[in-house]
Amino acid sequence: MHQPMLAADANAEIREEVRKLCARFPGEYWRKLDAERRYPSDFVAALTEAGYLSVLIPEEYGGSGLGLSAAAAILETIQEEGCNGAACHAQMYIMGAILRHGSDAQKQQYLPGIATGALRLQAFGVTEPTSGTDTTALRTFARREGDEFIVNGQKIWTSRAEHSDLMLLLARTTPRDQVAKKTEGLSVFIVDMREALGNGLTIRPIRTMMNHNSCEVFFDNMRVPAENLIGQLDRGFRVILDGMNAERLLIAAECVGDAKWFTKKSVGYANERQVFGRAIGQNQGVQFPIARAYAQMRAAELMVREGCQKFESGQPCGPEANMAKMLAAEASWAAAEAAVQTHGGFGFAEEYDIERKFRETRLYQVAPISTNLILSYLSEHVLGLPRSY
Ligand SMILES: Cc1cc2nc3c(=O)[nH]c(=O)nc-3n(C[C@H](O)[C@H](O)[C@H](O)COP(=O)(O)OP(=O)(O)OC[C@H]3O[C@@H](n4cnc5c(N)ncnc54)[C@H](O)[C@@H]3O)c2cc1C
Repeated sequence: MHQPMLAADANAEIREEVRKLCARFPGEYWRKLDAERRYPSDFVAALTEAGYLSVLIPEEYGGSGLGLSAAAAILETIQEEGCNGAACHAQMYIMGAILRHGSDAQKQQYLPGIATGALRLQAFGVTEPTSGTDTTALRTFARREGDEFIVNGQKIWTSRAEHSDLMLLLARTTPRDQVAKKTEGLSVFIVDMREALGNGLTIRPIRTMMNHNSCEVFFDNMRVPAENLIGQLDRGFRVILDGMNAERLLIAAECVGDAKWFTKKSVGYANERQVFGRAIGQNQGVQFPIARAYAQMRAAELMVREGCQKFESGQPCGPEANMAKMLAAEASWAAAEAAVQTHGGFGFAEEYDIERKFRETRLYQVAPISTNLILSYLSEHVLGLPRSY
């Protein structure tokens, strides 16, 4: 397959090294985990050891201090090689909340451990069963009592909760009817789940259509030291918002990687498979969906690149991050759909990995933000159309 190099790819070397690492984790590895719904501990350990999960942490805290483009290149390559970065992508970016809003003491306390992997901060407790996308309607409440906050409530879809030492938690600290704006009165905490588990914290895994290690999390008078508040009390919504562009761009990069993987598989199979005495890829009905998905992927790739560049130079990048996420998730789904169709019956056979990746990549039109919500953001905030909700 034609592999265009985008102009001067500063991360070509990183991509090459990630490719080598991923070669140690072939389809059989992922298939077995998928069947047993187990966590890819060896893969995550290899990425941690190689330093790939700490690229966004500044050098003074033990990371490599690279920009978002490098992190995007790593995650894209992981997906392009048929692996699954969802197992640990959040370890890369959740720490951004501490980096941008934490005190010096908090940065010293957490970032070096996160950089080495000794501390895993990859659980993000925002979504709740009753509030859904309407984040400010969340009900989990943290009440101040002396030097502690007492937390009661529930989160859902907290991914990797069983494989994380710390959780970044968004909770209400002032009731919604006592604040001027509904985005006020929310606060962000670091929860040490190792201490809290069995002491007010319960984790219950949810079995999903793919191997994603997502959980329900319950808080029953869970005690969190007041010093674990990140940023200002009642101003936590801003802390969460600040991290969302990075998350959307990185997940978009993963979708671009998925699209590349599917397309490589489709092209290989379409060239090889002979039916009616000729390669199926000779039929335009087979070629066109693959070609269309490829074009979609390239457009999304450019948007990811622009978003990362803006993020790195400190410019606002909300529109680009959102568009990148939407376009890339649609491109990966189009490529997945084309791959299943191209492979005919074999698209459904586990040993081809197509069906597994097909299930995995579907998520990104729903999480971390669904396509409708991106469209409504663009309509209102970029195009100036009336607010719809
Ligand atoms: C596998 C998985 C992992 C996840 N990991 C995490 C995690 O680690 N941490 C975390 O906090 N969350 C996580 N999530 C939650 C995820 O972010 C939400 O599922 C997502 O934001 C959608 O919220 P919801 O499921 O409550 O859907 P709802 O908000 O109930 O929406 C349902 C549907 O209605 C549409 N809709 C809702 N309101 C509107 C509107 N005003 N206009 C148009 N359409 C609308 C939505 O687009 C969606 O399609 C995860 C979810 C999944 C499935």
